[in-house]
Amino acid sequence: MRRICLITGASAGIGAATARLAAERGYDLALNYRTDHAGAAAVADDCQAAGAQALLCPADVARPDELSAMFAAIDARFGRIDALVNNAGIVGQTAGVTDLTHDRLRRMFDVNVIGAMLVAKETVLRMQAQGQGGAIVNLSSAAARIGSANQYVDYAASKAAIDIFTKGLGEEVAPDNIRVNGVRPGLIETDIHAKGGEPDRARRMAHMVPIRRTGSAQEVARAILFLLSDEASYVTGTMLDVAGGR
Ligand code: NAD
Repeated sequence: MRRICLITGASAGIGAATARLAAERGYDLALNYRTDHAGAAAVADDCQAAGAQALLCPADVARPDELSAMFAAIDARFGRIDALVNNAGIVGQTAGVTDLTHDRLRRMFDVNVIGAMLVAKETVLRMQAQGQGGAIVNLSSAAARIGSANQYVDYAASKAAIDIFTKGLGEEVAPDNIRVNGVRPGLIETDIHAKGGEPDRARRMAHMVPIRRTGSAQEVARAILFLLSDEASYVTGTMLDVAGGR
């Protein structure tokens, strides 16, 4: 039987690459995104071409009402969730801490922390009811270790929250054989840098990476699929850095 995998933020970047690889590896997919319908539809087409079912699930992860509708749609279509990639996330424009506004901080933590925790909660409830275990991968960032001074300390702090959430939730649900791990990508070539106002950020900073290059979304996707798989059956509550040694 094909396993059902929910991926948040699946219309672009790491989420899209993970969806395509998951389809190849035999998962059926619930593909969440916020507004990029065309991007999500293209990912769904590729997943279906690989033999997977793909359900489009538009919802802002920061909106509990939209999340409720999303999980209802997944329940109706698949009736179960075996794997979650908690990937939706945002950065802000480059700024020092003295320039951060209340609105920006609220949005950063609503999406990156509260959204991820609510999605994990709803997924765990379903996995516990199913009684067959499951696997969750949360997307953190190397920023959680580095702090991102003068760039986006708020983003780094939100990802540090994801690290400890991964540890705590992992311990809580380990008796249910639900494994919870995190991936900390480094400088990965996606559009997130342009959304933060710096399209060339990853390439500009590549010289700071020990391996001397940026990473690809596919390289992060492979780490995520490993942690979801039975190959990682004794791995839980931990973080995997996919950051070229940085
Ligand atoms: P991206 O901007 O290319 O894609 C982000 C995805 O998240 C999109 O599908 C977007 O629709 C979705 N999204 C954003 N806000 C949302 C919301 N409120 N509700 C639902 N979906 C939403 O980003 P990416 O580079 O692929 O990043 C994916 C994850 O990896 C993020 O959590 C990011 O913080 C993390 N990450 C990325 C890098 C990097 O260098 N690209 C490094 C470290 C961590």
